[in-house]
Amino acid sequence: MNIHEYQAKALLRSYGAPVSDGRVVLSANEAKTAAGELDGPLWVVKAQIHAGGRGKGHFKETEAGEKGGVRLAKSVEEAAQEANRMLGSTLVTHQTGPVGKQVNRVYIEDGSDIERELYLALLVDRGSSRISFVCSTEGGMDIEEVAAKTPEKILSFSVDPAVGYQGFHGRRIAFALGLEGKQVKQCAALMGTLYKIFVEKDMEMLEINPLIVTDSGDLKCLDCKAGFDGNALYRHPDIVGLRDETEEDPKELAASKHDLNYIALDGEIGCMVNGAGLAMATMDIIKLYGAEPANFLDVGGGATKEKVTEAFKIITSDPNVKGILVNIFGGIMRCDIIAEGVIAAVKEVGLQVPLVVRLEGTNVEKGKEIIAGSGLNVIAADDLKDGAEKIVKAVKG
Ligand code: GDP
Ligand code: MG
Repeated sequence: MNIHEYQAKALLRSYGAPVSDGRVVLSANEAKTAAGELDGPLWVVKAQIHAGGRGKGHFKETEAGEKGGVRLAKSVEEAAQEANRMLGSTLVTHQTGPVGKQVNRVYIEDGSDIERELYLALLVDRGSSRISFVCSTEGGMDIEEVAAKTPEKILSFSVDPAVGYQGFHGRRIAFALGLEGKQVKQCAALMGTLYKIFVEKDMEMLEINPLIVTDSGDLKCLDCKAGFDGNALYRHPDIVGLRDETEEDPKELAASKHDLNYIALDGEIGCMVNGAGLAMATMDIIKLYGAEPANFLDVGGGATKEKVTEAFKIITSDPNVKGILVNIFGGIMRCDIIAEGVIAAVKEVGLQVPLVVRLEGTNVEKGKEIIAGSGLNVIAADDLKDGAEKIVKAVKG
């Protein structure tokens, strides 16, 4: 789960990490008051969407490249103007895709004078099963580009969880970033704080880009992107309270409400599968036969008829879906339950695209009978290969 920059900064502030003072506003009326509460003489107005690259992004409503989602203002009036312009507009960045995202919240911040822009991130490194620090002197820009063109400018190392964060970790980062004097001490303290937040809040990712050196030579977190482990959210009601559902894919949101493991993808074949491994294999074999999956969907081992119906509705609500492949191995799950769920869903939402169903395992004969007796236009498949072949053929001709 991701949160907004202003929420992430409030979290950092509560742990004593250096961030600018700021106010979030939801309407034009609030913008002027909010800006007036900050000292100036520089204000930064920042569109709050769950995507990076806002500064270099552009609003659909204005000329491409004209004005981005991070703007500096020299007066309260100017800050309010910028906020008004952003609210309700659609910001397009390289992370939002061409559709862009509507800006519903704007963060107005005390502007900082920047000496240097650095990059810092903490993330869960699956390779080492540890938390890793990633830092670079090349802050404020695309870290992917730095990694591709000048990988030597990135330092990355993991922390042994048995030992935890130590001062030398922070000093290693400080020296890699070319910090000196009081900054080294500040860096070691800040890294310790960020590591503590990361562990205590069960985070997946914490990115500060840029981490800056101000004109007075102090470190400050100027941007913050924070992601939390969805499986640990039950331990963090405070974090769950920060969830902004308008930022999430509506299909993924509906799926999470029904406890379905669903990820939206770009392809044309909707998949309903039980078990993550079988779901992965199904996606692979669809690709092997020349099409692309429209989603990953694991209905789980103990799915009910209602859950299957919901899953089916989510798949058919995707306009990109040109065909559906149901691939179920009945282990704990019984094939007749799946069959009933599919029939119920088709009756409820209708079927505009070809549907291939492959059932195997417990009560498979009963399941097949239910489907055959339904009178619905369902293509039966015998195995995984047969199912993939049939759905790709039905979609691509
Ligand atoms: P992003 O584009 O979504 O990553 O948004 P950021 O918060 O990283 O802001 C983009 C850029 O705007 C930063 O890299 C800075 O160069 C600039 N910026 C942001 N805040 C300030 C500020 O307080 N003062 C100044 N001078 N520039 C800022
Ligand atoms: Mg940034």
